[in-house]
Amino acid sequence: MPELPEVETVCRALKPHLAGSRILDVAALAGRLRGPLDTEQLREFCAGRTILDVRRRAKYIIVELGPAHSPSAKKAANRKSPIEKSAAPRRALLLHLGMTGAFRVCGEDTPMEKHLRVFWTLDGRRQWRMLDARKFGSVECRGLRADGSVVELDHLGVEPLEGGFTAGFLLGKMCARRCPVKCLLMDQAVVAGIGNIYASEACFRAGVRPQRPAARVTRPEAVRLVRECRAVLREAIASGGSTIRSFSGVDGSEGHFSVALKVYGRAGEPCLRCGGAHTVRKLILGGRSSFYCPACQK
Ligand SMILES: [Zn+2]
Repeated sequence: MPELPEVETVCRALKPHLAGSRILDVAALAGRLRGPLDTEQLREFCAGRTILDVRRRAKYIIVELGPAHSPSAKKAANRKSPIEKSAAPRRALLLHLGMTGAFRVCGEDTPMEKHLRVFWTLDGRRQWRMLDARKFGSVECRGLRADGSVVELDHLGVEPLEGGFTAGFLLGKMCARRCPVKCLLMDQAVVAGIGNIYASEACFRAGVRPQRPAARVTRPEAVRLVRECRAVLREAIASGGSTIRSFSGVDGSEGHFSVALKVYGRAGEPCLRCGGAHTVRKLILGGRSSFYCPACQK
């Protein structure tokens, strides 16, 4: 399943292709992905609009659309006062890759792929395509607040790569929690977008056992956890960036980027930090495989 670095990389790869492009038409080839898909509703929402921006929130991709370009809409807009114009409601496509979602931008004559689910026809005889073999992805039509945020994503916690994710913030969330620290890092209502692999790696790099009760994490450990969460995500984004440049299109289906995993999936192998004096152990936390070194992590 794509994690935050993969989604960030897809956003960065899509943006130069999509920003400034005008959507001429859209078609849904599947009746539903995770939720229902309706060509008419999508057409009503998107067609004739220019894509203003492509950005990420947690593991969602927000594709913001500009005002409609139809002559009647322009006339109606001209009749409004400047205040009304500036208050025009903003809107966006809210996209999720699910398990196997991927995007391509290609010429409109490019043969259709087996798992093509939705395609937007863009100016310049191009198509923006969403492929999804297992159909756990989603395409939703949403309004945006004046600040560009999406009401439906309000339940999500802070962004791990932004300023709000600090040791003080993390300690505040952990002080009353008995759950393992790794589960807290994966709690999307606390911090959005850290999945199982990166939570394991961050705990290893911070020297904190994943099963430690969150309330017993010290301030220096919280400082290290925040630092290592950020570092492992940034490294993964950097490796994804170099991977994706070699693609002809835009594709998020390559699985996890080749970030050097130091502990995840290495049960029974020598620990890379203590030089093989100990072997990596595996345990299940919150139903997910977790890996740690009993010597390097306290
Ligand atoms: Zn070790």
